[in-house]
Order: sequence, then structure tokens, then C-alpha cells
Amino acid sequence: MENRKMVPCNKCGHKTVLAIGYLSELSPDQEPYQSDVVEPCDSVGETIYEEVSVGIHYCEQCQKISDIWIESPQINEELEETEPQPITKEGT
Ligand SMILES: [Zn+2]
Repeated sequence: MENRKMVPCNKCGHKTVLAIGYLSELSPDQEPYQSDVVEPCDSVGETIYEEVSVGIHYCEQCQKISDIWIESPQINEELEETEPQPITKEGT
């Protein structure tokens, strides 16, 4: 396990509260595919059921979110796997 240090607020430096929120229902936007183009997305319906958890550092002093990130799904891990390899020039 990773050791979590106390994280100070990036505005006032006060200690922050680590909090996790869960989302399981997401609503497609009015412009789901392209901005400025309102079109239906029939394949997913009115709601997308996907579990997303979000982490925040909340400052008690400012009463604001100091820091926010996605806990899961961990999209970054997938990106690392498909990270493009440096192009090596080889004779063909
Ligand atoms: Zn603060």
C-alpha cells in the first residue's frame, strides 16, 4: 500500500480531508457526440450505468475542493500498456 501523507490545501495550506465519492449513473449530454450538435444516442439510452469513483482533498478552511482525481476506473494503467514505443529507425 502506498503511504498517504497529509496533503495541504493548495490555496491556504490547511490540512485537507481525503474523501471518496461514487457515481453509478451518468447521463449523456444533450450534445453527446459533437458539441453544438444535438442528436439522440439510442444505443445507451438515457443513463449510462458505469461505476466511477472520485477522490477529493477537501479543505475545511476554504470549504472547497483542493484537489480531485479519478480513483477508478484507472484509465492511466491502460494508457501505460498501450504507450507507443519509441520509433526506431531500421533499414527495410
Ligand atoms: Zn484551504
